[in-house]
Amino acid sequence: DLSHNVILYLDDITVSFDGFRALNKLSLQIDAGELRCFIGPNGAGKTTMMDVITGKTRPDSGKAFFGQTIDLTRMTEPQIAHAGIGRKFQKPTIFENHSVFENLELALKTDKRVKKSLFARLFGDDLDKIADTLRQIRLTDQADRPAGLLSHGQKQWLEIGMLLVQDPKLLLLDEPVAGMTDDETERTAELFVSLKGKHSLMVVEHDMAFVEALGGKVTVLHEGSVLAEGDLATVQADQRVIEVYLGR
Ligand code: ADP
Repeated sequence: DLSHNVILYLDDITVSFDGFRALNKLSLQIDAGELRCFIGPNGAGKTTMMDVITGKTRPDSGKAFFGQTIDLTRMTEPQIAHAGIGRKFQKPTIFENHSVFENLELALKTDKRVKKSLFARLFGDDLDKIADTLRQIRLTDQADRPAGLLSHGQKQWLEIGMLLVQDPKLLLLDEPVAGMTDDETERTAELFVSLKGKHSLMVVEHDMAFVEALGGKVTVLHEGSVLAEGDLATVQADQRVIEVYLGR
């Protein structure tokens, strides 16, 4: 019963570590162009879910499909990245001694689909893509500065930009606004809202003001499966969710 616009389909995914079920029959669907937030207490399985989607962890059982035909459980991490799933971890992995522009250039050239030598010069389309990305991440005026001199929030945006130049269909983001100022958090919400539609986003986040600013559907994970799903106000009013967060 896969609807044509589902970009990610997880069905009955179980992952055990030494008998402990980090994911326990996790099932969910993400629509193409959707921006979905994931919340839940520590240990709920959010990171393990991301690890399964990116091929870092193989599930013991269950199905994981990207689009209708791509079976993620049979692919390696590089193959999955190549298929269009980008992941941003909490800690940025930018090249501090290189300029903002060069960081985006390197990300573009290491995109296997582009197949360019690191020494090749960039031409029209690629330069347009970098210019567009700089505008999106609001770093146009910082393009020539060493990335190491950026603020914490700007470094996070640069890393998001390094994913965006590779044109991912699905972006996975782990606590993207951790450590950001309120102003940076607000701008990040604007960026993500502007990305949905063209990209699908899965955002793991503890900052409820940010989750609220993003709007859209929220999935609450608990003990490795979905506890509740809906808009933020609805899941926050759900008695089971309240119990989990208050520790019963
Ligand atoms: P969350 O990201 O929601 O905090 P995780 O997915 O990191 O949750 O973890 C879910 C559970 O699985 C936790 O109890 C964690 O200790 C356990 N876990 C995660 N990864 C491993 C691992 N590689 N080995 C053993 N246990 C793990």
